[in-house]
Parts: sequence; C-alpha cells; structure tokens
Amino acid sequence: MQLSVRTAIPAAFLLCAVTVALPQSPTQKPQLEEIASGKTRVIDLSYALNDKLVPWPGDAEAFEAKTNATVEKNGYFTRSFWMLEHYGTHMDAPAHFPPGTITIDKISAEKFFGPAVVLDVRNEADRNPDYQLTVKRIEAWEEKHGRIPAGAIVVLRTGWASRWPDVVRYRNQDANGIMHFPGFSVEAAKFLLERKISGLGCDTLSIDPGNSKDFPVHHTVLGAEVFQLENLADLKGLPEAGAFLIAAPIKLEGGSGGPVRVFALVAQ
Ligand SMILES: [Zn+2]
Repeated sequence: MQLSVRTAIPAAFLLCAVTVALPQSPTQKPQLEEIASGKTRVIDLSYALNDKLVPWPGDAEAFEAKTNATVEKNGYFTRSFWMLEHYGTHMDAPAHFPPGTITIDKISAEKFFGPAVVLDVRNEADRNPDYQLTVKRIEAWEEKHGRIPAGAIVVLRTGWASRWPDVVRYRNQDANGIMHFPGFSVEAAKFLLERKISGLGCDTLSIDPGNSKDFPVHHTVLGAEVFQLENLADLKGLPEAGAFLIAAPIKLEGGSGGPVRVFALVAQ
C-alpha cells in the first residue's frame, strides 16, 4: 500500500487538479471516479467559519456575517461577511512576516498541491505543552518513510484539535497570559526548508510554539517564501506518509494571509 500511495497517488492527484481547471479533459475521469467510488477518501481539514472560533489574543473582533437578502423579502438569500485574515483555518503568506515578500494572491498555485508529511508528536505534546519539534524527530520520520520530497506540505500533528474551539484550552494561557502549545523549532524549520518543501502546517494557533515571543519560525519559513497553514482541523485521519494535500486559499489581492480550504486525499 505504501508503494502504490507514494508512486501512483501523487500523479493521480495532479491529474485531479488539472481536472478541476479543465473539466472537459476526458483523461481525468478515472481520477474523479476514484474519489466518487471511495477508493480515494477526501478529508476536509478546515473548520467552518463563524464568530465563535479561537482568535489570536488581542483580536477582539474576528468575524461578522450579515444577512443582506432573504428568500421571504427578496426571493433569494445572500449575506456579506467580514473577517480577519488570520482567523480559523488560514494560510500565512510570506508577506505576513519579514523578510517574506509575496502576498497571498502571488503564491504560485503549484505550491498548493503536495505530498503530506505528517509528523505525529501527540505523545510529546501530551507530556509537554511547550514541546518544540526537533530535527531528530524529522530524521526518524525519514528513516521510516524515506527522504521528504521536494514540494511536500509538512504538518505537525499535536492533537491540539481536540481542544478546538474551546478558547481557554486551545490557547492554554498561564497566569501571565503566556500561551502554551507545541510548535516547530527553528532548527526543524530550517531542516525542512533544505528539503524544498512547499508549505508547513499545524493543528494549533501558530507554527511557532505558544510561548514564543519573537516568532522565529515565522520569520524563517515565510522569509524563505514558504506558506504556513494554521488551525488545521483534526489530522488524526492522515497516515504519516502517503496522503496528498490540497491547500486552496482565498485569492485576496495584497493579503498577508487568509482563510484556506485544506483537503487531504487518502487512498483506501
Ligand atoms: Zn497566521
């Protein structure tokens, strides 16, 4: 199963992606049928947006939706909404932190498709909420599954999604307001950048650990023009290797980030 997933599935998913853009192409049908038949499962890794999610501390207002037209009055239903760029499941564009420059609309679409590398640190995070991913842990993944491929999207599975959307438990702030949740270390981030990854993601409020003061992983990763995914929904359905991720952010001109729909494609 590992072999077929590692070799056949990425190619299949690229074809799927082409199918989305070019629905006329007949050659893509088998890939679409694979999803419809259930041979390939789609896991939605984004939380639904509303005004009850966990905002970054200090962000008093995060989301608002208003009804503009109703079926009763207008014959149709529409709403307008306002939200922070960094709220709910979202993507950080390189421009979010210097020295990154690219805004969310400028990230090349190819980067949004990549093999999923899942680093499972639930045990470590259970023992120590301030846990930082080590290079050693990534090397252990590579010993088991092979070298992390260029273009991979690497996600940290801490188990923190089980606390969502409980603001108190998810932020896990101490008496001084310092948050405590796990994240990547700068060393681990640098190691992953050497692998030419396309993106980095986590099931917590930030790629940096909660107690970080200066966000060195943000500076390092976004500075290398690699995007970040934060507040990913429960990653428990993903194998450590062999799934494929599609991260489709809003194409917001000039945006520092924005809401993103993330899908994991997993072969059965
Ligand atoms: Zn962010």
